[in-house]
Parts: sequence; C-alpha cells; structure tokens
Amino acid sequence: MLFGRKKKNPIKLHDKGVQQWRYATCGYCSVGCSIELGLNAEGQAVTTRGVGGADVNRGKLCIKGLAEAAVFNASGRGTDPMMRSRIFDEFETTDWDYALDHTANEFRRIQQKYGRDAVAVVSTGQIMTEEFYTLGKLVRGLIGTNNYDGNTTLCMASAVSGYKRSFGSDGPPGCYDDFEHTNCLMAFGSNLPEQHPIIYWRLKEALEKRKFPVIVVDPRVTMFAQFADIHLPITPGTDLVLLNSMAHVIINENLHDLNYIQQSCNGFEALEKLVQQYDPTSASKICGIDEDMIRTVARLYAKADSAMSIWTMGINQSTHGTDGVCAINNLNLITGNIGKPGGTSLSITGQCNAMGTREWSSCSGLPGYRLLENPEHREEIGKFWGVDPDFFPKKAGLKETDIFPAIETGQIKALWIVATNPMTSMPNSARIRKSFEQLEFCVVQDTYADCECNQYAHVYLPGAVWAEKEGCFTNTERRVNLTRASQPAYANSKPDGWIFNQLAKRFDNYENMHFPESAEAVFEEMKQLSKGIGPNGKARILDISGMSYEKIEKSRGIQWPCRDNDESTDDKQPSPTGNRVQGTARLYTDGVFQFPDGKAKLLAMPYVENNEVPDEKFPFWLNSGRVVEHFHTRTKTGKIGNCNKFSPTAYMEMNPDAADQLGVKHMSYVRLVSRRGDAVVLVQLTHRVPINMVFIPFHFHDCVNRLSLGLLDPYSRQPAFKQGAVRIEHIDQQEAAKLNVSMRTF
Ligand code: SF4
Repeated sequence: MLFGRKKKNPIKLHDKGVQQWRYATCGYCSVGCSIELGLNAEGQAVTTRGVGGADVNRGKLCIKGLAEAAVFNASGRGTDPMMRSRIFDEFETTDWDYALDHTANEFRRIQQKYGRDAVAVVSTGQIMTEEFYTLGKLVRGLIGTNNYDGNTTLCMASAVSGYKRSFGSDGPPGCYDDFEHTNCLMAFGSNLPEQHPIIYWRLKEALEKRKFPVIVVDPRVTMFAQFADIHLPITPGTDLVLLNSMAHVIINENLHDLNYIQQSCNGFEALEKLVQQYDPTSASKICGIDEDMIRTVARLYAKADSAMSIWTMGINQSTHGTDGVCAINNLNLITGNIGKPGGTSLSITGQCNAMGTREWSSCSGLPGYRLLENPEHREEIGKFWGVDPDFFPKKAGLKETDIFPAIETGQIKALWIVATNPMTSMPNSARIRKSFEQLEFCVVQDTYADCECNQYAHVYLPGAVWAEKEGCFTNTERRVNLTRASQPAYANSKPDGWIFNQLAKRFDNYENMHFPESAEAVFEEMKQLSKGIGPNGKARILDISGMSYEKIEKSRGIQWPCRDNDESTDDKQPSPTGNRVQGTARLYTDGVFQFPDGKAKLLAMPYVENNEVPDEKFPFWLNSGRVVEHFHTRTKTGKIGNCNKFSPTAYMEMNPDAADQLGVKHMSYVRLVSRRGDAVVLVQLTHRVPINMVFIPFHFHDCVNRLSLGLLDPYSRQPAFKQGAVRIEHIDQQEAAKLNVSMRTF
C-alpha cells in the first residue's frame, strides 16, 4: 500500500503519426528559430519541433512556433484568384491567366494615363528573400514605378535610417552570442519576453551562467521590466533626452573611450558641445527619470568591460525614432562598444524576413544595399538585369506612410499589396479606409482571402504560405536560414515567387531579362550580386557568396558576410551547439565603418518636443505593443486556436487608481476617444501602466489604429504609434459587447 503522495499518471502525448521531419525556419518573428515540420504518412504537416542543433534556438520554440503546423489549413485561406465584377461589385472566382492579364493591363492603362509612378506597390517582411529579390526586379526593371515600399516602414525603418546615418550602412552589427559576453545590457522600448521569446531565453541562459546588470527603459512595467535589475519608466518619446544626458555624464566624467573615438569616429567635438545642454538635472525634468539614476546608469554602462544596447519599437515608432537609434549608436561608439564580444548596438527586428526585404527587395534602392542615387550602382544592376540604367529613377520614391496620402491627393491611382494588411496596421484607419475607396485599381496578394484589405481589392491573388514554398529568411543577427518546401500550395494558391515571374512575362522588356524558375537559382543569382567592393574600399559587407542551400541547412543558418574565399567559412571553431561556425558573427570588429573614410559618425542631435501629449481634453498617453500569442494583424494567429484562445479580444490595460477616479470597473467596456477616432475595449486593471497611460495590444482590427497618431519620423517616415493622447468615456455595456464581438470577427 502506498502512503503519502499519490502516484500520478505520466503525461501522455498524443501520437501524431509523424513519418518524417522537414527543415524550415519559423515564419513568424525575426528571432529566426530553426524548426522541423512533422509530416504524417499522407505527407500532411501535423506538428512542429525546435531543432536541437540550431545555434539560434537550441531546440526551443515559443507558442507561435509550436502551433505553426496549423497555418496551412487555417480558416480564411484563399483558394483561387478572384476578380470584382464591374456590374454587381461582387468578387468572383477566375483563373490565374485572366487575373494576371487583367492586373498587367490595368497597371499599364493607369501608367499610360497618369504616369509611371501612379501605380504603387507595398510589400511585406513575410515572404522569402528570393521572392523579394524577384519582386524588386519586376518593379524596378519592368513595371518601373518608384512608389514601392515594404511594411517594414511601420516597424524597422528608423533602425535602418539610424544605422545608415551612424555607420554608413544598414546591418545590425551584433549577435545573440553577445549576451554570453556582455557585462551590461541596456534595453530600450523592447519587451523581449513577449516580442522575441527565444532571444529572451538566450539572455536568461547567459544570466544563469554569469550575472550582469540588465537595465530596461520603458514607460510601462513590461514583463521584461519586471525582470530587470533597473527599470527606467521614461516619459514616452523622450529617449533622445535620456541618451544625450547619459553621454553628458560619460564625457564629463571622462569615462569615454578616447582612443576608439579618435581612430574610428568623426563628430566628437560637436557631440561633446551639444550634450553639455543635457545635464541630468535638466534632462530628468523632460524624460522623467531621476537625475541620480541617469548618472548611475551612465556610469554602469561606461565602466563595464563590454556593454550592449538592444531596442525595438519603443525607439523606432516615434517622431524621434531615427535620432533615438543614432543616440544609441553614439552611446556605443563613445564607449568603444561596437564589434566586440558583448559590446554592440543591436536592433531586434520584427518580422521573420524584415531583414530580407531590407537587403534584397530594392524597396529603398537597388538590391544588396545599392543606391538609386549612385550612377555606378544603377549601371551595374542595369547591366546585370538587362535593363537600361536610365529606366531606374535617380532617387528612392515614396514610403508606405506617404503612399496613402498620395492616394488621397490623386497622385497614386493603383495599389498592389503583397502579404501585408494596412487596413489594420496603419495608423489612423479612418483615413486609410478613405484612401482605399479612392483607388481606381487595387490588387491584394495574400495567403488569406479574409484579410481586411481584400474588401477593397479589384483582384485577389492567393499566395502560398511558409513551407508551401522554398527559400531563405534573414534574422536579427544577419543569419540566413532556409525553409524547405514540404507542403503543396493550398488549393489553387501559388508561391509568391511564381506569381511575380508570371506577371513579369506580361511586361515589355521581359525578353531581355532573366527570371529564374527555382528559388535556389534565384539565390545563386543573388550570390553573384553580393560580391564586390563596398563604399569604404573594402569587401562588401552584405556578401553571401560563400553560402549555398546545402551549407545553410547543414549549419542551421549562416551569418553574413560569408564570402566564397573567406576563412570565416572554415569549420575550425566549433559553435556552442556543435554546428560549423560559418559566416561572421559581428560587423565592424576592425573599427572600420561603411563611410568612404571608414569612420563612424557621432551625431549631435537636439531634442525637439513635437509629440502629441496628454492634456485636459485627452488626459491619457496611448501606448501599444505586441502580446506573445499573436503576430501582427492576426491574419494567421487569429485563426489558430492554441494562439488565439489566450487573447481573443481587444483589451486595454489601465491603472486601478485612474480607474477608481473615473469609476471604471475591471472587465467592463469603455470607449476610448482620440483626435482621430474612437474604439471600444475591455478594461484590464493593472499597475503595469502608470496612472496617466493606457496600453492596447496592436493586433486587433478596428481598435488601436482608429486612435493612433500618424505623425512621421523625418528620416525613416515611420509613424509615432506610441505617442498619442486619448480620453476614456463610459459606454452602455450591452452595446459595447456587441461592438467588441464584431471587432473580433474577420
Ligand atoms: Fe518563431 Fe519567433 Fe517564436 Fe522563434 S521566437 S518560434 S522565430 S515566433
């Protein structure tokens, strides 16, 4: 007879009958986890697992990766191309030839009538790098519009602009392995556990081996802030003030690395002069951080043998986003913390292939970080593609956030949307809706036919998703990783690369160009373009010529640059997981940057107050961000039970003291009102937000972006999603419940 604790039955996992595992890279966020899809005897994807030998995730996956096998048969998938009938305004199924002919004809008609740039293209961070490259070739080389952008303008554009202004090129200089070496971590506007769970796990693992201070700057007491050693609850939009003040302390207390600055940087004198205005006593009155805390943090950072900065949307989504990024880079440069183990400024990117679009889509120029403004680059790409270089514009066109206002003014008449959902993701949705209504022609290419933009489409093209096709993503640490096609495309949907190739055939000059059929052949073409000499006279940094699909899969991802004759491609150094170390873990290890003289720029940037701040009429800050179960506009996670069930409805975090003052109850509905519109949300009372702030997850349609502010950063054109003002109004609970249910429905 057993006494004491009862014997428990062990947990039994349902046998899903997996017969084989196929290699892939997670198709959600930019962490870039290696993942295997389990296929049953019929070849259907039934489960996923993390890849134990992968350097990035070492066998782990977050909730989204674990449930990812469900994306293939989720509800709402588009089965066939559709066209809107002119007479009855109804969407009708059609065939691919007819849909693509009509699309090409409409683009041509509109370009002949209104000019080449009257057609705009907005793409994504979700498709494969080879598909981005092909889309860029089609748009720049055949369609010829200059109004072409990706939705990465909504999340990472300020990081890109900041890297270019400070270092002369895009490309995050650090890697996840820096957590293993750093002696101080400072995170700005990044809720790592919810946004990038596996990077957070890498950090936790490093901290278990060796303690170092973790400082989190965020107006909200996020999950990451709760875990930090020091939390700085900054006033929204004032990061530049805090960073200038830290530079003030570091320089005035002689804690800067003068040798590094003299060898590798320009602009120190101007920076030193400017930051004199940002003494901690004055700065604390603007940024809301105690002056002694500013001094403490500045000293901790500067005195550490190595220190690293990470950031995400809290910095980028601001009218000062690019300045904030440059100020982080300043901090790292003056302390000599770039390109050394544990010393870096690492922007944590957003979508699974946000980096791929930055590198190869030609959105902001020409492929491989080439510039439209540079005649040699136009000549080189024109010759390589078989396009007259004069066909290319001489400077980049409108960003996504300028394309919609240009539709309003009639400058743009046609819009092609590829795998993105601006009806939910853009600020000020009422204005975006009006823009859609004004279009003469709209094409929506998406995996899901029920994405909100499709209401306005004249043509819908169903795209295949994730492991229904083959190709690469690049993650936050410049690691190129592979997804093998392991599922057939759903119904009559097609891989995006196939759609681009077929559309290309319908334009003049196609005969003079070459559009390879397979993703691997496209990758081989990109490898050739990646070689060469960079602006500083040294080898280009975005060099992938030493990679191949086989090597990438074997190594579970390779970090660029990886040159075909580079000794960094050898296998002498074992990685922590035993994989061959290939490619380059860190950029700028030699202190040589991408400007012609090889020196980085220290930038002196005064803070200009231009936020919408709370006032008597709108007394609360409106903050927004991601929750772990969902990804972006829920086109995928909203349909996957094991993700959606944890966060099925739009809600708002509110401070209990503020709620008490207004008579608002936990789990009641309220109406939020801003200068742009209103939204109904369920109240969750929590001390995570201060008394003058509310927080809403950004994933839900017809919710936070009915309220958010569309002011833009002047360099990146990224919107200030996180600095708006709202008021709270009571609403009839029955009426609100009906409204809230309708917001949940696609
Ligand atoms: Fe996918 Fe990102 Fe989760 Fe990794 S952390 S499993 S890449 S969603």
